[in-house]
Amino acid sequence: MTLTVVNPATEEPIVALAQAGEAETDEAVARAKAAFPAWRDLAPQDRAGRLRALAELVEEHLEELARIESENVGKPIAGARGEVGMVAQVFHYYAGAVDKHLGETIPAAGGVAATFREALGVVGLIVPWNFPLNIASWKLGPALACGNTVVLKPAELTPLSALRLAELALEAGIPEGVLNVVVGPGSVVGQRLVEHPDVAKIAFTGSTEVGRQVMRGAAAQIKRVTLELGGKSANVIFEDADLERAAGAAPYAVFDNAGQDCCARSRILVQSSVYDRFVELLVEATRRVKVGDPAEEITEMGPLISSAHRETVSSFIEGEPLFRGEAPGGPGYWFPCTLVEATNDDRVAREEVFGPVAAVIPFSDEAEAIGIANDTPYGLSGSIWTRDGARALRVSRALETGVISVNSNSSVRVQTPFGGFKQSGLGRELGMQALDGYSEVKTVFFSTES
Ligand code: NAP
Ligand code: MG
Repeated sequence: MTLTVVNPATEEPIVALAQAGEAETDEAVARAKAAFPAWRDLAPQDRAGRLRALAELVEEHLEELARIESENVGKPIAGARGEVGMVAQVFHYYAGAVDKHLGETIPAAGGVAATFREALGVVGLIVPWNFPLNIASWKLGPALACGNTVVLKPAELTPLSALRLAELALEAGIPEGVLNVVVGPGSVVGQRLVEHPDVAKIAFTGSTEVGRQVMRGAAAQIKRVTLELGGKSANVIFEDADLERAAGAAPYAVFDNAGQDCCARSRILVQSSVYDRFVELLVEATRRVKVGDPAEEITEMGPLISSAHRETVSSFIEGEPLFRGEAPGGPGYWFPCTLVEATNDDRVAREEVFGPVAAVIPFSDEAEAIGIANDTPYGLSGSIWTRDGARALRVSRALETGVISVNSNSSVRVQTPFGGFKQSGLGRELGMQALDGYSEVKTVFFSTES
């Protein structure tokens, strides 16, 4: 079977690839299993050195990787460069972490105990199409730093950057078999990784629905899982906020990556007393988002990933929106920036649209804002805009979400833990905390009795 990879901005094929099935997945797991002991036992500075070499190769090939990602996902080139830059930072960070993820010595009756961080073995990494290389790196960095070997399954729509990264890994001195990429359907390759007896853990990023299946499948062997799932994050604008700044930033918090972002702040909650003024500013700012050819330097938003996905996104628009921007006609899977007025009970406010559609929802006071923000099965990200420091702290603590920013829409940094509350996931990526998800703690007790 072959798989045709398509440029979503032109609908033109980029390349046709052979599609893997169960047999090829099993072979990749076998290669990873064979490579595991030597990689685990490599001196820490040696493992770190190879990860650092990979970071440097990613920097050297930044333009090439950014163009691959831009063409395959329809991402604006300027943003794609930023994403690849983060991939290099991630490998640098985890290269530095190899010899800093330490155990403890713990005094205990009759002796002393020591804890060791043991590698898990073969880890299956399953990633989505929205940030293919970035999200792969968040898993590869800590997985490899801890001494595991991996089988990476990119989304079928966007396998190209992962394939190129695997070549760079070999060039960086990461031995054959340590980083394997298998391109094939989730229902075959992904499913097989979940069920495979020699895969110790699955690190999955994708939809909550498939995440649930992964968790169910992993239960048979009590396989470890990390899940980064969907989101429906709130961007809460209080009346005392710098409204110009908040409104200027809000479009990018939902229309970046054409809204195909798990952290999209796609519910914009606005205090009633400033609602009209804020909406006016928001519409103006949304009108300025530059939608068009991803290869152009000034472009801020490209197309959606596929025709099928555009159908799904369209299904959320009922009636006349508050604002609808401009988008190119065909070819390409274009969809305009769209703002709709909603209540938190409307489908557009309950479900993850994963497209450039924001629901604008009024609230009267702080308690109501917290109630609306938390009234969702998700809990990934969010923002609070206020000049009142006590309120910022109070509301941050009250929100049921893994990541919050105050007077900012940033969610992701290499050094800070990232992950979801509630149905947005399980476990944390990035920061030193991610290393806990790729190692097992072993306690060894030494008796001091003679
Ligand atoms: P998806 O449909 O859940 O797919 C994610 C990955 O899982 C793909 O590689 C897919 O393969 C694979 N897969 C599909 N069925 C599978 C199965 N039965 N067993 C194992 N693997 C399977 O998600 P998507 O449509 O690609 O991405 C959008 C979703 O990802 C959104 O919900 C978004 O919020 C979420 N996301 C979350 C984060 C986060 O960090 N929390 C980040 C980005 C995206 P194929 O597609 O090749 O079939
Ligand atoms: Mg999917």
